[in-house]
Amino acid sequence: MLAAIARELACQFLVAWLLLVMGDFLSTFCYHVPEHVFGSLHLKTHHSSKKTFRHYAILTLNVQVLLDGFLGALPYLFVAAVLWSVSPIGVIGGLLFGQFHVWWRHISALGWQTPQPIAQLCRVLFITTPEQHWLHHQKTTVGFGDIFTFFEQPARAWMRLLRLLRLHFRYSPV
Ligand SMILES: [Zn+2]
Ligand SMILES: [Zn+2]
Repeated sequence: MLAAIARELACQFLVAWLLLVMGDFLSTFCYHVPEHVFGSLHLKTHHSSKKTFRHYAILTLNVQVLLDGFLGALPYLFVAAVLWSVSPIGVIGGLLFGQFHVWWRHISALGWQTPQPIAQLCRVLFITTPEQHWLHHQKTTVGFGDIFTFFEQPARAWMRLLRLLRLHFRYSPV
């Protein structure tokens, strides 16, 4: 009985973690980084300086902010649909954590400083702290991986590659 409950809990936890990893991966590599290289919507909305916490945390009715938030969240919803049949509770848990993390990682705008024990736990779990995400707001070439820090280095490499591609297409003769 206890073993069955533990197995069920482990499955739900694994589905939630997978949803966040795959969602963050797709969101970072298919939307966030390409949008920084080829687009302007995310740069205009999410990186505009001196905005409020509500603006960064997408707690506003500004259409452009909502669109940028929706496009960034779309990969998570796609993964959620795929994993739904495995564990609906895991999917809901993952989406709730993802939404909580959107708010938490922007709390630096309110002057928050992450307590050391929490920062250490995040380091062990490779979870992006508000301080790490704030670096991305200040300098758009660093601090990738909205939720997981292990996407930072590959995202930087992806950005360099896409920038080279942009240069190539801009200056290659037609
Ligand atoms: Zn942000
Ligand atoms: Zn960005």
